[in-house]
Amino acid sequence: DTIVLAELAKRMGIKANDMIIKLMGMGVMATVNQTIDYDTAELVATEFGFEVERAAFEEETILSTSVVDEDPSLRVTRSPVVTIMGHVDHGKTSLLDVIRKTSVTSGEAGGITQHIGAYHVETENGAIAFLDTPGHEAFTAMRSRGAKVTDIVILVVAADDGVMPQTVEALNHAKAAEVPIIVAVNKIDKPDADPDRVKRELSEHGVLAEDWGGDTMFVNVSAKSHVGIPELLEMVLLQAEVLELVANPDRLAIGHVVEAKLDIGRGPLATVLIQEGTVKAGQSVVCGMYHGKIRAMFNDKGEQVSEAGPSMPVEIIGLTGVPEAGDEMVAVKDEKDARQVSGHRLQKARARELAKNSRVTLDSLFERLEEGEVKDLNLIIKADVHGSIEALRESLGKLSTSEVKINVIHAATGTVTESDVSLAAVSNAIILGFNVRPATKVQNMAKEENVDMRFYDIIYDAIKDLKDAMVGLMESTF
Ligand code: GDP
Repeated sequence: DTIVLAELAKRMGIKANDMIIKLMGMGVMATVNQTIDYDTAELVATEFGFEVERAAFEEETILSTSVVDEDPSLRVTRSPVVTIMGHVDHGKTSLLDVIRKTSVTSGEAGGITQHIGAYHVETENGAIAFLDTPGHEAFTAMRSRGAKVTDIVILVVAADDGVMPQTVEALNHAKAAEVPIIVAVNKIDKPDADPDRVKRELSEHGVLAEDWGGDTMFVNVSAKSHVGIPELLEMVLLQAEVLELVANPDRLAIGHVVEAKLDIGRGPLATVLIQEGTVKAGQSVVCGMYHGKIRAMFNDKGEQVSEAGPSMPVEIIGLTGVPEAGDEMVAVKDEKDARQVSGHRLQKARARELAKNSRVTLDSLFERLEEGEVKDLNLIIKADVHGSIEALRESLGKLSTSEVKINVIHAATGTVTESDVSLAAVSNAIILGFNVRPATKVQNMAKEENVDMRFYDIIYDAIKDLKDAMVGLMESTF
């Protein structure tokens, strides 16, 4: 296994030239495009203060050969991928239904749409892929996992209801993801429809219609009486043109999982939206932690297909497990490569799980000290006032013994936040809260991450608990 020098340098965040000079110093003559093997990579990385894990290196070499830099002239126009968002009951589902029904279906006879989580819609002027993920949770979940799948957001606002809280939320998510918005003012058939109100209210959130001097396309529609649908699709295609969406269909495929489930008869099923390349039946793929040889693929009409190119959603059968929405799928050259990458990822996931289960708690502290597993007790303190923090620090300072050292790694006023829990998780710390209470979502996160949080109103109680825990006198809370 080898990696191109330029690629390795890029991944280490150093200049290729600096790497070449370093290699020369080691007696290795290399050029930017030269491939170097693991042992050399490890040596040179060490010189730059990096550690190269063999498994990670192998994964990089496998995936980077399938993601080779390519000639821009190979990239051709691809269809846009659209997500419909908006406030509940404003008509997202109805709109998607109408779009699917009124679009020109290719195989007239067939065409009973299957729910696979995404749809491919043909119009007279081009195709559009729709993600069937109403609401912004799925959108955000994907984004938080690094998957940028959506090119355009259709923001649905009911003309009789105007901008509502979830409209603003959806808007903010689209803005944060830097995805352009097209506003569909829906329910225009209603007698109390007031599209100007929608324009006015959205302008207060920085979204200005074109006829008001802004650059956002607005279109009046009615999902009920099928008004404005062709115009809406036309605007999507216009916006797509502006975005100049391109992909190379002639390479190993890369895509993202939109939806996945376990089917009793067929095993793991994953709907993947292809972003680059073309995936073919029979190919080996890595998908999240899993891999597999694609046994069969189906489109959104339930028809079996032998391949799928950019912006095409397909359901694939043949994975070794059920991936998560937002996971990346990459086609690789053979099964051996697929198995290797997936094996490494499974191992990493297991290690993470293990770390989670071995997190320190007050209940387990003494045992862990006895076993010599823990020598430091890391604490994060959150309190209502600064005075409590100072008082606590002082008392804690006296608790350290020769066996165990108490470190306050973070102390601040305010309630316990999700970032406190993350910090506790990575630094194996216990969180102490004084006269503060956590939000439910923080509590849930702590539980999920196995982070011990303790809340007190009296400093003495906290000190007593810590002392007891250190000598194994902690009364079990179970
Ligand atoms: P979602 O929660 O955003 O997916 O909204 P739905 O598509 O479920 O629609 C909510 C309600 O509004 C349903 O009762 C629809 O029949 C109704 N509805 C949707 N679009 C229109 C429309 O254009 N005109 C009218 N009058 N009703 C609509």
